[in-house]
Amino acid sequence: MLLDNHGRTINYLRLAVTDRCNLRCFYCMPEEGLNWLSRKELMTYEEMLQICSLLVKMGIDKIRITGGEPFVRKDIMRFLTSLSELKGLNELNITTNGVLTAPHIPELKAIGVNSINLSLDTLDANRFFSITGRDEFSNVIETLENCLKNDIEVKINAVVMDGKNTQDIIPLVQLTKDLPVSVRFIEEMPFNGDGHIYNGLKWDYLRILEEIKDKCPDLQKVPDALYSTSYNYKIPGHKGSIGIIAAYSRTFCGTCNRVRITPVGELKTCLYDNGILNIKDLIRQGINEDDLRQILLKTFNQRAKDGWEAERLRKESTGIHESMATIGG
Ligand code: SAM
Ligand code: SF4
Repeated sequence: MLLDNHGRTINYLRLAVTDRCNLRCFYCMPEEGLNWLSRKELMTYEEMLQICSLLVKMGIDKIRITGGEPFVRKDIMRFLTSLSELKGLNELNITTNGVLTAPHIPELKAIGVNSINLSLDTLDANRFFSITGRDEFSNVIETLENCLKNDIEVKINAVVMDGKNTQDIIPLVQLTKDLPVSVRFIEEMPFNGDGHIYNGLKWDYLRILEEIKDKCPDLQKVPDALYSTSYNYKIPGHKGSIGIIAAYSRTFCGTCNRVRITPVGELKTCLYDNGILNIKDLIRQGINEDDLRQILLKTFNQRAKDGWEAERLRKESTGIHESMATIGG
């Protein structure tokens, strides 16, 4: 078992396979996109597989593939298939915007993908366009339908943004009435690639909860799973469940079991640090597995206590400028 210097288990890797994306979500990146990484800067699938294989041997048993949008990277299914064959990996999950995902769902099920987090901030096609800058609502809904049809667990991720989609909170909660989905509301974070100035959080987890309780007074708290980042709820008689993720308030750091690797191979031991170690560079310099294992163990042993400390220790002290597309969420 991998433990950090605060006694927390590390068993979960979130791997961002690209920074590129076919949407322009207001809270994630500017309309003109990002200064996209070159192919040379990106890790190859072989490098990613090598890193995942070592981390699984060290104690990681759950991997989430994210991005950017994973399905815009060429040959992603080939990579996912190889990953699904790693011995010792118990869970393989994907976070996707659902634009290109629908046709792949049966194959994802066949290779053993456990669950899909689908980003969907509104059930209104016009608002979808104004949030994401693209007219792709129907494709995302098709992905949701295909997940349900193929019996793949699906969680809907909705970022709550003041003045943009707070009117969607209750319709999204109502989705849980007939559908076995978990709808999770996420506090907006400052990782928008400077598409706009982040003016602080107006809808924190408490306000989101108040809004739901106000309209759905029978909302019930349900137990949170070990390492869960969400506070979880249910409405009696509903097939699905509701979660609230205090991603900005950072209430979950005490049990954080996850590390991240960015598309350029930068290891992040906290969402709020800006990269602790570049694993891709070490691999390209020809490091052997034992030495890499030792360096990783040392890095896991120097983990920030929480997201506030990680933010304070960032290499540049000029604040957060990166896009979530280079982190993976
Ligand atoms: N493109 C895929 C998608 O959107 O699902 C995967 C990558 S995206 C960066 C991963 C998650 O991060 C999404 O659920 C998205 O809503 C969330 N996210 C992006 N920017 C965010 C922000 N500024 N605050 C909170 N969540 C954010
Ligand atoms: Fe793309 Fe996902 Fe960022 Fe939206 S949240 S712009 S879909 S990477």
